[in-house]
Amino acid sequence: MATDSELVYLDNNATTPIRPEVLEAMMPFLSRNFANASGAYRLSREARQAIDVAREQVAALIDARPEEIVFTSGGTESDNTAIASSVFCQPDRRLLVGSEVEHPAILSHFEQLKADRDYQLTLVPVDESGCLNEPAYEKALEGGPALVSLMWANNETGVLFPVREAAEKARASGAFFHTDAVQAMGKVPVSVKDSEIHFLSMSGHKFHAPKGVGALYVNRQARLHPYVIGGGQEQDRRGGTENVAGIVGLGKASELARTELEAGGDAKVAAMRDRLEENLIRELSDVERNGHPEKRLPNTASVAFKGIEAQGLLIMLDQEQICASAGSACHTGSLQPSRILSAMGMSAERATSTVRLSVSHLTTDEELERAIACIVESVKRLRKLRTGGQVVRAT
Ligand code: PLP
Repeated sequence: MATDSELVYLDNNATTPIRPEVLEAMMPFLSRNFANASGAYRLSREARQAIDVAREQVAALIDARPEEIVFTSGGTESDNTAIASSVFCQPDRRLLVGSEVEHPAILSHFEQLKADRDYQLTLVPVDESGCLNEPAYEKALEGGPALVSLMWANNETGVLFPVREAAEKARASGAFFHTDAVQAMGKVPVSVKDSEIHFLSMSGHKFHAPKGVGALYVNRQARLHPYVIGGGQEQDRRGGTENVAGIVGLGKASELARTELEAGGDAKVAAMRDRLEENLIRELSDVERNGHPEKRLPNTASVAFKGIEAQGLLIMLDQEQICASAGSACHTGSLQPSRILSAMGMSAERATSTVRLSVSHLTTDEELERAIACIVESVKRLRKLRTGGQVVRAT
């Protein structure tokens, strides 16, 4: 059994550790400076200035202007705000367009609008490598949607959508265009410059800032109807006393991400992910990669190990302090293949044998070696147990 210090964290698409520099930047606003940023005294002015700096740092990461950044509580709120605002501002349009593999933060809101307010939904399919079916997308636009929402990168497979091109195509249809870029931030360059993107969502905890803070980019020409209303904060675009420490953390994480991407950090992360995949493929039989081999995030590996159940593998990895996640969810004892892998036309067997391993620039070579050895050993054991008639299942 591994000790705590041997923890190997390969679940960076679920959440990420807060970077020490981010924590350091936040600390004054969790201790000495507890002020409400709207106050009329020096302490408040300091907090307000820190928010202003963060707004510039976040804007710089996506080539936006500071006034186009609205701070929120995270990706879910940013997604929901873009949807609610678009629907409010285009009341005569009754169609919403997304893809079949959007996050529940989008799809649940879409479903609710369909059930409660009679909206029509068109969810564009993906192909077997997880890429957007572009002819189907173009066809969907003919319906004159109020909003198109397409994710920048998929959370399970890391597959990238051609978002800037999709926004360009959406322009002629008169729709608002939103992208959920929660998984892309800090992993690949993301730019809204000279694009037709009206709204972009991001979430701090996916790129080394804390949970509970995020941002919505709102193009300066797009109208935003606030979703969270209250004290008039964020220029009346998002009510609620500002989470100063969280916002400062998001700003610092954005600054660090930008510096690293400019220095080619994404290529280094990709090399690590490739080494992980290649070792697993070399040392085990019947291992398959899911998702497009090139058009994907540099940090994400979605790997199917034929003949095993991912939940069983995760239990064994957990015992060795290795954190990963499955392409399936365990509901009341039965394994449900992931919605995303199913949308790619994958068999239930392959989907339920899929594990998502997501690294970051903080993952070390030693950690990677230990993870490879443990995964190889565990898969071999599970396959042996299976041929012996036993199956390791999640409880
Ligand atoms: N969108 C995507 C693609 C995500 O992966 C997530 C988080 O898992 C979210 C939205 C929600 O973000 P948050 O956890 O900040 O609400």
